[in-house]
Amino acid sequence: MAGASVSFRRVTKRYGAVTALADFDLEVAPGEFMTFLGPSGSGKTTALNVLAGFVDPSGGDLLIGGKSVLALPPEHRQLGMVFQSYTLFPHMTVFENVAFPLRLRREAKAAIARKVAAALEMVRLGGLEGRMPKELSGGQRQRVAFARAVVFEPPVLLMDEPLGALDLKLREAMQLEIKRYHNELGCTIIFVTHDQGEALALSDRIAIMGEGRIAQVDTPEAIYDRPASRYVAEFIGKTNILTLTQGPSGTVHLVETASTLGMEAAQAAGLVLGALSLRPEKIHRVQTNQPDSIDFTAKVGEVLFLGDIVQYDIRVEGTSAEARHLIFQEHRGPQTPILKRGDQVRLGFQLRDALPVQADGSPLTAQD
Ligand code: ADP
Ligand code: MG
Repeated sequence: MAGASVSFRRVTKRYGAVTALADFDLEVAPGEFMTFLGPSGSGKTTALNVLAGFVDPSGGDLLIGGKSVLALPPEHRQLGMVFQSYTLFPHMTVFENVAFPLRLRREAKAAIARKVAAALEMVRLGGLEGRMPKELSGGQRQRVAFARAVVFEPPVLLMDEPLGALDLKLREAMQLEIKRYHNELGCTIIFVTHDQGEALALSDRIAIMGEGRIAQVDTPEAIYDRPASRYVAEFIGKTNILTLTQGPSGTVHLVETASTLGMEAAQAAGLVLGALSLRPEKIHRVQTNQPDSIDFTAKVGEVLFLGDIVQYDIRVEGTSAEARHLIFQEHRGPQTPILKRGDQVRLGFQLRDALPVQADGSPLTAQD
């Protein structure tokens, strides 16, 4: 089954004084795995509901395969759905649950038998046709819901926090399954989650949402490496937010590390005054000072052992008033024995790894 394109064109949805979606604009390519990621209340479900036709938008247009679907009722939009609340019919067998969308479409008995068998094979539940939902585990029930959503070969599949109710181990297993289904089916998937790890692992592209708007839409790598704003930097992965201020003549000052640096070096690294995002893994131990890096001494606080990686809460030692907490992460290795709480360590980072994330950050000018 080939995937269809999906377009949100300046879609707005208001509930009284609440604007759930504000000029929501997005083009999803055929066959793309697009994830809506954002905190609770950011408009993710509303975006899916207006696309599915469960909710009428206050303004804007929605297109599937290049055609507006605004005038179509939900059942004619040909969307597969796995919603958290869209549970199995408890009084029907696995077979009947999966056959349901085909019966609605009045397919022939032989075609139903063949398609249900294929869908159950794909989710590895062949042989369980006769079971009732209550005789299945949580993961198996989610697989049946998935089979039911794709059995009629929809060009677009919507999934709203489909793994939210599963425990961590099962959730990770199901994430791999969903990747496999997507590869096998080739349909367009719009997936909703508030779990950034899940979004990074699954998606071709992620739309980061906040207050009914898209804060950034890009590939997982681009969003992680080049967050467009402080909101995105803090939402995706862990980060340190640093503040760059004007220093004495010809210099700038990095508040959190109590460091003063030359204007030229800061300009060369693309820094601007305001907030900078520095990923914890960009901080490393240093022996000798490097010209294009910031060095500082820190005291180790909490130590989080994460297996291959160790995460440290560190307190920068400088003028005591400006000592700050930062997080620092590194791989374990022969050169980097695990530090202990209270250890003193010399750390540093490259200037170019501190990314400007403040929309109105002021550019650096040669004069002070
Ligand atoms: P998310 O799925 O990201 O958690 P929603 O799309 O469910 O967010 O909600 C977005 C905003 O719209 C929230 O402020 C929510 O309270 C509001 N909202 C959603 N549905 C309704 C509704 N039926 N009536 C009133 N407000 C609603
Ligand atoms: Mg929701």
